[in-house]
Amino acid sequence: MKHLPIQEPLIKNDLAQIGASSGNLIDTFGRVHNNLRISVTDRCNLRCVYCMPEDVQFLDSKELLSFEEINAFVKIAVTRGINKVRLTGGEPLLRRDLSTLVGFLSQIEEIKDLSMTTNGMLLKSQAMALKQAGLNRITISLDTLIPERFLDLCKRDGLAQTLEGIDAGIRAGFQSIKLNTVSIKGINDDEIVSLAKFAREKQIEIRFIEYMPIGANPWEKAKVMPAHEILEKIDKEVGALVPATNYDPRAPAMEFVYEDGKGKVGIIASVSKPFCQSCNRIRITAEGKLRNCLFALEEIDIRPFLRPEVDTKSILTMLENSVVSKWAGHQFNTKEFIKPTRTMHAIGG
Ligand code: SAM
Ligand code: SF4
Repeated sequence: MKHLPIQEPLIKNDLAQIGASSGNLIDTFGRVHNNLRISVTDRCNLRCVYCMPEDVQFLDSKELLSFEEINAFVKIAVTRGINKVRLTGGEPLLRRDLSTLVGFLSQIEEIKDLSMTTNGMLLKSQAMALKQAGLNRITISLDTLIPERFLDLCKRDGLAQTLEGIDAGIRAGFQSIKLNTVSIKGINDDEIVSLAKFAREKQIEIRFIEYMPIGANPWEKAKVMPAHEILEKIDKEVGALVPATNYDPRAPAMEFVYEDGKGKVGIIASVSKPFCQSCNRIRITAEGKLRNCLFALEEIDIRPFLRPEVDTKSILTMLENSVVSKWAGHQFNTKEFIKPTRTMHAIGG
């Protein structure tokens, strides 16, 4: 495995110096935050219509947090109970030498789960290195099995490459591989059954996500394929489903297993059954903006406290402030909902 030379950032004050006490990140609604999503780039090799616009002004590479800065931030966050980390983007595999970052993070003892969400296009050549560097789990997005539709939906040719990426991920032997499918009425809802069958044949879990108002396209609620309809279709046409007994109630997906024991289906019902009351996530964007919700309208810039030197004390304060100012939940289903100006690829899904 190739590693970039490690250049530890300068430390202005570290945990030992400031005598930081431990304590979890708990918001005013009592939600404990242990889950951090890190976006490593806002760039993407696809342009999924529900996620990002065709023409985008991407961040300059100098604006991105370096791997050392991300590592320093995570080492601080774990002292406040963060123990699950997911790498995302944009397309995380576009970030050069991503396995180097995975190698850094996998050495942080407190992290119990290190995962990544990817479109899989570049996974074939990187899966093994990521596994060896310590990545535990991987989620691959797949919305269609029809090449022309892939082109329509993602605005780039790439189904064959994505399918190769899925197979490479399976071969690499990650602890778990899942598929993510955004199901949109009139666009790809006619593939719910074929995608569920595909996942069952590959012996991997598939998760259907309700279409959310976070992309570049104007969102229409009428296009949301509700979770119960997805489940009914699969139950009727693929195999009888029963609720899984061993799933984490704080996780966004409701999980179901086939009655015959051959496979699992997850449903992320962000619109029809929001799970905000059990949210345990915070996010950091590729340029170092801390966000306490996917739909947050405000963010905290922590890069100045990581660069040119790491100010641990201020970062801890920002983490606490961010979590304390978290709202009860998104307002999709009300007139009060305001769409964030950042689209999904620039936040980190
Ligand atoms: N590029 C990677 C990928 O596609 O997996 C990681 C980033 S992408 C933003 C993360 C996840 O967000 C993907 O599974 C994608 O399908 C999902 N996503 C993007 N826009 C969405 C939307 N408007 N509604 C629901 N899910 C969305
Ligand atoms: Fe890229 Fe992922 Fe967004 Fe598609 S969903 S445009 S692959 S970031």
